[in-house]
Amino acid sequence: MIVDTHAHLNTEEYVHDIDEVLEEAQIHGVSKVIVIGMDEASNQRAIELAKTHKMLFATVGVHPAYVDTTTTNHLEALLEEEKVVAIGECGLDLHWKQDNIKKQKEIFIQQIELAVKTKLPLIIHTRDSFEETYQCLLPYKGQVTGVFHCFSSNLEDAKRAIDLGFYIGIDGPITFKKAYDLVDVVKNTDLSYILVETDSPYLSPMPYRGKRNEPAYTKHVVKKIAELKKMTYREVSNQTTSNAHKLFNLGGLET
Ligand SMILES: [Zn+2]
Repeated sequence: MIVDTHAHLNTEEYVHDIDEVLEEAQIHGVSKVIVIGMDEASNQRAIELAKTHKMLFATVGVHPAYVDTTTTNHLEALLEEEKVVAIGECGLDLHWKQDNIKKQKEIFIQQIELAVKTKLPLIIHTRDSFEETYQCLLPYKGQVTGVFHCFSSNLEDAKRAIDLGFYIGIDGPITFKKAYDLVDVVKNTDLSYILVETDSPYLSPMPYRGKRNEPAYTKHVVKKIAELKKMTYREVSNQTTSNAHKLFNLGGLET
């Protein structure tokens, strides 16, 4: 069994066929999917989906792309909802926008503090900003945990993330031809720190690159990790699933 720990099934792409997408996921061994919020509307939608689908769980947060239009004021009430298992995705993104870095940091830190208060893990988004993100989290070391979602830096940064108490999220790009850094990270990181995710509908693994991603494709990520670490598919799926259960406390929420 596999847990897809990061999917945006709350986006328009799945409005018409969410049930088929989940059925397909189950056929391919995916037993649970964590649906990730990014702003108020998608947070609400993630919760709604988790309430109506047994295999779904939700996270609520403010993604760095939405800091100019969304505040964190609505989060606290939503965190009370059953099946909300984490805060995020939140973090910093200097790839798309740099001029609002102050605002990005402010909104990110508010969410780190919510994580300290609620003891919920953080789903971290960081793009071209590992150092800045790391520096925001460092003062809270020991008080927060979570995952560096869709990890895209090098082995040295992976070690720093783990040292902060975080997991490394691995997605479709591990199957791409030129994923040299990522291959190095996966080969040299203990499997007990790795989570598998899809980031659906983005970042489809090979052989679906460029098409809509979906949770069923998590198996291609598991397969690639197994190949790189010279382990069996089962060892990788068992360990990463157990990591996901531990971090997001999914066992306690089993119905
Ligand atoms: Zn995402």
